[in-house]
Amino acid sequence: ELLVPHMPTIRVPRSGDRVYKSECAFSYDSPNSEGGLYVCMNTFLAFGREHVERHFRKTGQSVYMHLKRHVREKVRGASGGALPKRRNSKIFLDLDTDDDLNSDDYEYEDEAKLVIFPEHHEIALPNIEELPALVTIACDAVLSSKSPYRKQDPDAWGGELPVSKCANNLTQLDNGVRIPPSGWKCGRCDLRENLWLNLTDGSVLCGKWSSDSSGGNGHALEHYRDTGYPLAVKLGTITPDGADVYSFQEEEPVSDPHLGRHLAHFGIDMLHTHGTENGLRDNDLRPRVSEWEVIQESGTKLKPMYGPGYTGLRNLGNSGYLSSVMQAVFSIPEFQRA
Ligand SMILES: [Zn+2]
Ligand SMILES: [Zn+2]
Repeated sequence: ELLVPHMPTIRVPRSGDRVYKSECAFSYDSPNSEGGLYVCMNTFLAFGREHVERHFRKTGQSVYMHLKRHVREKVRGASGGALPKRRNSKIFLDLDTDDDLNSDDYEYEDEAKLVIFPEHHEIALPNIEELPALVTIACDAVLSSKSPYRKQDPDAWGGELPVSKCANNLTQLDNGVRIPPSGWKCGRCDLRENLWLNLTDGSVLCGKWSSDSSGGNGHALEHYRDTGYPLAVKLGTITPDGADVYSFQEEEPVSDPHLGRHLAHFGIDMLHTHGTENGLRDNDLRPRVSEWEVIQESGTKLKPMYGPGYTGLRNLGNSGYLSSVMQAVFSIPEFQRA
């Protein structure tokens, strides 16, 4: 009942949400710190003891999950040896164990509870009997979410992609389209990189602008909006082991258990294809698009845009320092007039 007024602020993290539960947004505080770590149940940002109250005052967000890893020296048996090791079901936080502490000499115990500010009311977790189901679901999702720092590790991605719901009954049009092994180009613009083969009609269209320095005009997504054809494969990523498959319908990278058959429909023999960069190895003398040209969006028609969603500078990956220089320069009246 303490939670009732705050229920609208408690969210269940969705697949796109990053849950920060290993380190404070402002300091090095972690669940290992003395004050533990507070995870905001609305934004899933984490705060140490000295920073959480400020977040509460600024945002009014009252409910946090408090995570704390207790470390204590192991109790020694009478013989002086360590007590027999218990299977450690008490550890559930996804944390690196501190290398300074020899884990044979210490035991760890993780604790999670809900804390409501400003009174600092505490509710131990799990508490299925008393908490509303939504809160229990939200807490479970926060606890089981992967640290975003690990989420970006491409190896960790590998085997975990969900199987697309669209893969089993995917319709493939018998339109005679055959995809050549190289020399692709977007069907709606001049882009020759970041191209996606739609597995329903064999159309080859460019992807979206993304932070991995490949440009795109989003024609593949546009095509999905027009047609509803859900799955696309990134050209150049096809190897005998698989390929990058994206589901527009599920809005995430997926795996396609019938990928070999789906590609063969458009004349691609997956087992004899090796990731290429659009045939640049062949006699194509076109210079490789440099990162600078991608950043300038050279070759694409640019329209001046402003309004919601177009304000600010997008981080392209470690480009924040450039953005801050740009903003400083743009604040100079002489430059604005030039
Ligand atoms: Zn802090
Ligand atoms: Zn395009």
